[in-house]
Amino acid sequence: MKSDDTNSLRATLRIDCDKCSGLCCMALYCTKTDGFPENKEAGVPCKQLMPDFRCRIHSMLAKKGMKGCLAYDCFGAGQKVTQGIYANEDWKKNPEKATEICRVFMMVFQLHQMIWYLLEALSLVTDESERRKFHDLMAAGRQLTTLPVEEMLKVDLTAYHGKVNQVLKQVSSRIASVSSKKANNSDYFGKNFKKSNLNGRDFSMAIMVAANLEGCSLKGTNFLGADLRDANIKNTDLSEAVFLTQMQVNATLGNSNTKLPTTISRPAVW
Ligand code: SF4
Ligand code: SF4
Repeated sequence: MKSDDTNSLRATLRIDCDKCSGLCCMALYCTKTDGFPENKEAGVPCKQLMPDFRCRIHSMLAKKGMKGCLAYDCFGAGQKVTQGIYANEDWKKNPEKATEICRVFMMVFQLHQMIWYLLEALSLVTDESERRKFHDLMAAGRQLTTLPVEEMLKVDLTAYHGKVNQVLKQVSSRIASVSSKKANNSDYFGKNFKKSNLNGRDFSMAIMVAANLEGCSLKGTNFLGADLRDANIKNTDLSEAVFLTQMQVNATLGNSNTKLPTTISRPAVW
């Protein structure tokens, strides 16, 4: 895959809410404690979702503390399902299909998320045979998103998920062994790391809720799957951190001095 192809694939994994039928606001199970306006079951539209699929309180989400709404990122699954798979057939016009559309959305979300991680991993490896393996896995994931709906919904993603996890673990352990900074802990709730040198540290799957990372050095720091809700990344350079997703960044506390990887957009509320 050439870099142009990689860039256009990345572009398909970015959310485009204007081209979506508010799928996350309908398909997801939400709770007030996770920063949504109400507790609601999956498949039930949020009461704030308007008939044109816009959010009634969009401009007030930050003020109202709707952290769950602000953080969520579907890796482009919303517009893919709305515009591609169900063009002209949204869940409002076709309520009998709403459950199916939710299931397809969740499936495409998982596949897009795995493809996103594979793209990130691809940028970290140079070995050609390894890169080919990543390309093949990405192609397999993309192919699953193009299956007819009935076939897609029969697919068990466990095996694909297992293969993706395996290659991500290999890349993560390599980063950790090169830096000799393998994590020996995974709970950093509220920990104050202010201005520490955390280059090459492996924080994959770590709990870093409300951790203070302000001013830390984070070159090659691995945040794969880390829980960064309310982590302080003000005045911090994360441009060379790895496996950092948009959803993780959206859930942190940053400011105009925070530097992000080029693949991540700056949250509008900073
Ligand atoms: S599902 Fe994705 S594209 Fe659709 S509204 Fe939610 S975040 Fe935006
Ligand atoms: S408050 Fe708005 S963004 Fe949040 S779930 Fe409801 S409609 Fe979606």
